[in-house]
Amino acid sequence: MLPFKIIYHPHYDLELGRHVFPSEKFKLIHDALSSEGIAETSDFLQPEPAPDEEILRVHTPSYINKLQTDSLTLSERMKLEIPLSELTRNAFWLAAGGSMLAGRKALEDGFAANLSGGFHHAYPGHGEGFCMIHDVAVAIRSLQAAGKIRTAMTVDTDVHHGNGTAAIFGEDETVFTFSIHQENNYPMPKPASDEDIGLEDGTRDHEYMEALEKGLQRAFMKMTPDLIFYVGGADPYREDQLGGLGLTIQGLQMRDRLVFEHARRRGIPVASTLAGGYARHVADTVRIHVNTILAASDVVLQRPSVGNR
Ligand SMILES: [Zn+2]
Repeated sequence: MLPFKIIYHPHYDLELGRHVFPSEKFKLIHDALSSEGIAETSDFLQPEPAPDEEILRVHTPSYINKLQTDSLTLSERMKLEIPLSELTRNAFWLAAGGSMLAGRKALEDGFAANLSGGFHHAYPGHGEGFCMIHDVAVAIRSLQAAGKIRTAMTVDTDVHHGNGTAAIFGEDETVFTFSIHQENNYPMPKPASDEDIGLEDGTRDHEYMEALEKGLQRAFMKMTPDLIFYVGGADPYREDQLGGLGLTIQGLQMRDRLVFEHARRRGIPVASTLAGGYARHVADTVRIHVNTILAASDVVLQRPSVGNR
């Protein structure tokens, strides 16, 4: 049994078939957590799709209307890079509902994980890079509107810069945006986050951890937020097809643990989301995401690091 809840829905799967985005990963992570005895049935919660009024706290009415009436332009479809259908739309609304629920459970339990979400390339008025709806921004705006939190921090360790997050919260002093990413990679240009660390191609575990540690120290000097949303992409992995950093699976788990330890030391709850992961072998992507849950469990239970399991 885990010391926190995991948010999952079978319809998270975008059912993209042969696509660089392994949309079956959501189910595979869920199944691995269950079959390996890491999580029990009672550890999982199923989200509802986010209500439209919550989605509209972030996205423009005209964009949402286009999604709901299937009337994106050809260039908007190409930018999104995944098909718009009833099924994919439902999956993104569920992902946003999942991040909202993860935020609420994190406030109660200190940690919660959404086994989807982290769609950090979505902008208020358009989607791009496999991201239709910015689930984390919806969750933050929703929790703020409900008076559950005043401030939040996004800690984004996906290999790609969190451009949508930076654009949405750029002028907002209640949300601190942190992104550590590969500088020479999509997206171009990169709107400024509150703390941006653009890494060189091939950066390995040791240099990465040093940069992350320094960046987190700078971030927490500027804000102690009410809640952290962790966007823990699996794509800084050295075998990733869309990433160019050199992290090992063990290094990625150390990364997760470092973020969670910083939060725990300061008593800040964390809601984690998955974001990207395009390893040559989908099993590696699944392992990296499962390890995020193990790292969180170790930190919440204050267990010493046991390395790569
Ligand atoms: Zn990514």
